[in-house]
This record gives sequence, C-alpha cells and structure tokens, in this order.
Amino acid sequence: MSLDGAYDDGNIFAKIIRGEAPAAKVYEDDHVVAFMDVFPQSTGHTLVIPKQDAARNLLEADPAILATLIQTVQRVARAVREALKPDGIVVTQFNGAPAGQTVYHLHFHIIPTWEGVPHGRHAGGGMADPDELKALAAAIAAKL
Ligand code: AMP
Repeated sequence: MSLDGAYDDGNIFAKIIRGEAPAAKVYEDDHVVAFMDVFPQSTGHTLVIPKQDAARNLLEADPAILATLIQTVQRVARAVREALKPDGIVVTQFNGAPAGQTVYHLHFHIIPTWEGVPHGRHAGGGMADPDELKALAAAIAAKL
C-alpha cells in the first residue's frame, strides 16, 4: 500500500484497540496503547499507537494526537531503558509499503539494542513466545 489510500479499520492494530485481538500491553490510556511486537527485532521491541486517530501514517496524523503519541514514545523508551538496560534504543516509523510499512495504523517502534547483537528482520522474524512477551511487558510497565 502506497502513501495514498483509505484507512481500513480491519487492520490488526485497530483490532487490538477494540480488544478483538490479543496483545501483551505495556501501557494504555484513553489516547494511546503500547504493546510488545510479536515479531520482535530485539528483546523488548515495543510498539506505541494512537487510539483515536484513523491515520495510516505520520503524514495523516492529527498534530495534537501526534504530540501525545510521541510523548508516550519517550516515556515508554525510558521505561524500556530502565527495565532492560540496553546499550542503545532505535525508534523507527515507516510510511508506505515501499518504505517498509506492513500495518497501516500509525505506530512507532521502540527497539532496544545491545552492542554486538544485530536486530532481527523487520516484520519478518519468528513469532515470540506470548508468555515471554507478557513478562517483558510487565517488566517495562513496572518502570513507567
Ligand atoms: P510496520 O512494518 O512498521 O508497519 O510495523 C508493523 C509491526 O507490527 C511489525 O514489526 C510486526 O512485527 C508487528 N506486528 C504485526 N502483527 C502484530 C500483532 N498482532 N501484535 C503485535 N505486533 C504485530
């Protein structure tokens, strides 16, 4: 899907927001949800999404909602740092399939990084164990 197109509320993140699909949640309020990526590129790979904005990508986002979203990204990234003690943290966000986007509901990736440990493939690695993701989510949530 290119940058053009309509928002499809059948996407997996919309289902997570509506409670129709499971997620290992780190944080949730009226505006945002943070949860573990099920195909993590590193241990602790976390996603942060807005709840209200039907934006497929950064370009379509309501600036007011974006402000809350990026503040939550910072807050969760700080908690990831406290919980997992990575050497670095990559924050990414993809717009359009040619850029690497695979789910068309705006989201930011928080990818903790350790010296000498390469990231897994984007959206293409193995599925993580749900219990491990729940444990990681709880560890990160405890540092919020
Ligand atoms: P992007 O390719 O930037 O659109 O990122 C989508 C991300 O969502 C990828 O990193 C996928 O691994 C991840 N993902 C896909 N399905 C799920 C799901 N059900 N729960 C959590 N993460 C998911």
